Amino acid sequence: MTENTKTNNIDTKRTDLFKRLHEINDLASAAALLNWDQTTYMPPGGGAARGRQLATLQRLAHEKFTDPAVGKLLDDLNPYAENLPYDADDAALIRLTRRNYENATKVPSDFVSEIASHTAALYEIWTTARPANDFAVVQPFLEKTLELSRRFANFFPGYEHIADPLIDQVDYGMKVSTIRPLFAELRAALTPLVKAIGEQSPVDTRFLHQFFPEADQLAAGIAAIKKFGYDFQRGRQDKTHHPFMTKFSLGDVRITTRVNEHDLGDALFSTMHESGHALYEQGISPQYEGTPLAEGTSSGVHESQSRLWENIVGRSLGFWQYYYPKLQTIFPAQLREVPLETFYRAINQVERSLIRTDADEVTYNLHVIIRFDLELALLEGKLAIADLPDAWQEQYSTSLGIMAPDNRDGVLQDVHWYGGLIGGAFQGYTLGNIMASQFYAAALQAHPGIPGEITHGQFSTLHTWLRENIYQHGSKFTTTELLHRVTGGPLSLNPYIDYLRNKYGTIYQLS
Ligand code: ZN
Repeated sequence: MTENTKTNNIDTKRTDLFKRLHEINDLASAAALLNWDQTTYMPPGGGAARGRQLATLQRLAHEKFTDPAVGKLLDDLNPYAENLPYDADDAALIRLTRRNYENATKVPSDFVSEIASHTAALYEIWTTARPANDFAVVQPFLEKTLELSRRFANFFPGYEHIADPLIDQVDYGMKVSTIRPLFAELRAALTPLVKAIGEQSPVDTRFLHQFFPEADQLAAGIAAIKKFGYDFQRGRQDKTHHPFMTKFSLGDVRITTRVNEHDLGDALFSTMHESGHALYEQGISPQYEGTPLAEGTSSGVHESQSRLWENIVGRSLGFWQYYYPKLQTIFPAQLREVPLETFYRAINQVERSLIRTDADEVTYNLHVIIRFDLELALLEGKLAIADLPDAWQEQYSTSLGIMAPDNRDGVLQDVHWYGGLIGGAFQGYTLGNIMASQFYAAALQAHPGIPGEITHGQFSTLHTWLRENIYQHGSKFTTTELLHRVTGGPLSLNPYIDYLRNKYGTIYQLS
């Protein structure tokens, strides 16, 4: 074979692989659109058929991806990929596609479709079971979810811990054996901080619970995230039960929110949070469109971006020096008499509370660690679903010193176990908090003027730095590779603990 025919041969195979990946991505995007519709506008009567439709699309996508022809193309393209520099786009694409292919071929298509239809059905039940405080109605379905989760893990024999294959799906490279000690260290650092804050006089937050009309709340959130850089030409915002971000293409990255007219923080901070996820996806290099590279690299890195915009920026004094006068204009009657300092302290109030998504930055991770531990106990077979509500209460009582009055604000509060598998669902939130501080510290090292710019409502230096260093790469680098490239080191708790101690030490005047 001449060099020329060899190159042609590689081009043909490469084109074939791209064509197949684009088709698979089209099916997955159609499923994502059906999912978005199910959680925003679909009438309740659509539930049963929607579950079936999602299962069909996911089965088709899975069948197409696990076609042995894809494996053959990857084998044939391997020598080409190995000759490219490690960080070449094609090398990364072929490396990642192979990893996904090897994972996907371990799980039968029928099983994938069974998971999809089961979780869609359970989600529908949960949406009424939660307001009705009815754990009994979800219990048998959740038992089935646990069984499916264990079966899923067992398609990956050789794991250290049964949760590892489930964690690996969303946080590649992370394991129970690395996360458990990290979380233990974090818990040990947080517990005295929560205690010291608890000894200070409580912050008055009553003014945040006046009546704030929905339309004005939505307008306030949208104005803030437009300044961050969220592009409404390539996105939109709708209402849902449990806010999320979803993407159908790099030109259509949507966010959702929910509004409580008696809680100013709910919609505002969830909007900032989801916009952080969306900025990541909107910032991915356009040439990755339709391929596995066109996604955030892990749940932890994704969460690092949502938390960075929601907390490090959105709950900072600097941001509110800029934005508070604007918020006062939107809500003059409610906020005119409230000074900036009072507002800032109120939105950063540390309080042992029941709801994870409403939790402050200091106690938030305790909520995550509780769920992570419960997932492990369920998967290990040490805890039965029937005992989960009590185990939940016990954990809250031990870690946070409080108990929910009912299951609605206890075990039924988060959508995750009612819309997906058990295992791997929560660790990303805390990994994200940890990495957000690492990434932000690196951004400040490159551009020490960022905090000053934020006080003037200028976010472009930060946004551009994040896009160039993190967003544009999509899934080209693993979490570990990205951390090394961006921060020069591995995952590290120190910047996060320093951030919390400095910020809350100042707010609560701790010595
Ligand atoms: Zn998030």
